Amino acid sequence: MKRRPFIKNILRAATVTAIAPQLSLSQSLASEKNSKKLGIALVGLGTYSTDQLAPALLETKLCYLSAIVTGTKEKEQQWIEKYGIKKENVYTYKNFDRIIDNDEIDIVYVVLPNSMHAEYTIRAAKAGKHVICEKPMATSVSDCKKMITACKKANKKLSIGYRLHFDPFNDNMMRLGQSKFYGNKMTVATEFSFNVSDINHWWRANKKLAGGGALMDLGIYCLQASIYTFGELPLTLWGKDTTKPDSIFNEVEGSIEWEMTFPSGKAYCKTSYESPFKSHLILNTEKGKLELSPSFTYDGIKGTTPDGEMELKNVNQQALQMDTFAQNILQDTSSIVPGEMGLRDNYIIEKIYESAANHSAVVNLNDIPNILDLRIN
Ligand code: NAD
Repeated sequence: MKRRPFIKNILRAATVTAIAPQLSLSQSLASEKNSKKLGIALVGLGTYSTDQLAPALLETKLCYLSAIVTGTKEKEQQWIEKYGIKKENVYTYKNFDRIIDNDEIDIVYVVLPNSMHAEYTIRAAKAGKHVICEKPMATSVSDCKKMITACKKANKKLSIGYRLHFDPFNDNMMRLGQSKFYGNKMTVATEFSFNVSDINHWWRANKKLAGGGALMDLGIYCLQASIYTFGELPLTLWGKDTTKPDSIFNEVEGSIEWEMTFPSGKAYCKTSYESPFKSHLILNTEKGKLELSPSFTYDGIKGTTPDGEMELKNVNQQALQMDTFAQNILQDTSSIVPGEMGLRDNYIIEKIYESAANHSAVVNLNDIPNILDLRIN
């Protein structure tokens, strides 16, 4: 078989598999015809809920926006009118626990500042609800463990808002990297950065609320991408705080770099709040370069391989992410981005900070939680 048609077939196969969740979702929809859509309560109506999640919930097939939790009175009426939410399904942070009595809420989606994720995930589980928690899962490994325990105890599922596991381009990178399609030795180079000029009232610059800086918020995508491209767990790492000397960031890092060693190669990662916009995932192989650029955006992702452009289409990542979790609940299957994966990533984040605080000493990741999203057998 000639190489070019072959790679086209592989890429087409990858496309089909990438949208397989959608296909099986419509089958699932047909089989679940008589059952109701699952109700989602968004907790925290900030930018991500307003601009991405709520609009995505108008496109989902297996779930819908049934409730909101907000501390801002003015938002209540706006959301009631825009999304047809019942008045009795509007909660505040204080009366949140009353969701236990509301059958129209099946899933609680925690979209709050990072340090509040643990509290609201645990309260949601205690109220008998399944949970999607935004990234980073928490601000410490110990909080991640408490969240997993609470959901297990309540016999409820816990998933992390890792939307890129539902993006066809990142899926294709997983398949081509994990299958070693272009050779066994590989190197990943990835960066997610943008420039922040004003940190006044910005919770992401506040250590207590954010837990850390660019790494917790943006670098986590590079960390994730390195792992899902190799399909392996990192063995060691070192990190270096590269925050500018005259930085406006004084509580959390403005910039950080780190390197991870995998069985098949190394990953060089960078993230910054002090740099022009960058979003790329590069995989250097024995047979040439694969690149997603931009790689981590909501839309407009583009990809190339040594054999040409990836012939894939962008999807509504969030709609697919939430529908897939609803399907996990309806069919009692496991999330591909479970709490254990969030815990793994918080573990790595802690090790990067540990190395950076220790003159970039190499840290062993002996006790890394063993969890991977593998796309190949
Ligand atoms: P945001 O600042 O726009 O919204 C935060 C919300 O939390 C607001 O509604 C605010 O009123 C509420 N809140 C409650 N208590 C608060 C407090 N003490 N301090 C500050 N705000 C408080 O933030 P966002 O961009 O919507 O991010 C929320 C979460 O979603 C974060 O964990 C973030 O990492 C995550 N996120 C994920 C993605 C993704 O692509 N998966 C994208 C953006 C944000």
